[in-house]
Amino acid sequence: MIRDGNHMAILEILHFPDPRLRNVAHSVETVGDDTRQFLDDMLDTMYTAPGIGLAATQVNDPRRIVVIDVSDAKDQPLCLINPEILELDGVEEMEEGCLSVPGFFEKVKRADRVRVRALDRNGEAFEMQVEGLLAVCIQHEIDHLDGKLFVDYLSQLKRTRIRNKLEKEQRQNAPAASGEASQRVI
Ligand code: ZN
Repeated sequence: MIRDGNHMAILEILHFPDPRLRNVAHSVETVGDDTRQFLDDMLDTMYTAPGIGLAATQVNDPRRIVVIDVSDAKDQPLCLINPEILELDGVEEMEEGCLSVPGFFEKVKRADRVRVRALDRNGEAFEMQVEGLLAVCIQHEIDHLDGKLFVDYLSQLKRTRIRNKLEKEQRQNAPAASGEASQRVI
């Protein structure tokens, strides 16, 4: 972890096929200052990557916490603690990427509209109804909290190909591909 004088912290993001990405996260019981500090660290990490969503599982933390910002100006951070999907509706097929699967983009079919309940950074419960990219993003991030990755929706052949390529890059310590289509890296 790198922390500078402004208490900005960039957390290390795990890459597929790291088995820790399969951990199932635990509910947060009390939202306190440590939770808020962690949310800020996650936002810093997500914006720096850059990505539009990040789940605690991706930075090897066991809490059910997700941060998202799908705005163009990157000024609408959304923090979801203990997120729960209440309703799914419609079908959407969107090309997805993931900060834990760098360099790969594949189409995944998900619900187009989602109603979700969560706690905010003050521990207050709220509900929201969203659609399109934000709905896809929320489903992708909650999957992370359950140890699931977008590559799980692909064929075994595609998943194996991606795993082999990333394992090879990790062995060679090659820098992960980034920068391209960062709008969709969640
Ligand atoms: Zn992801």
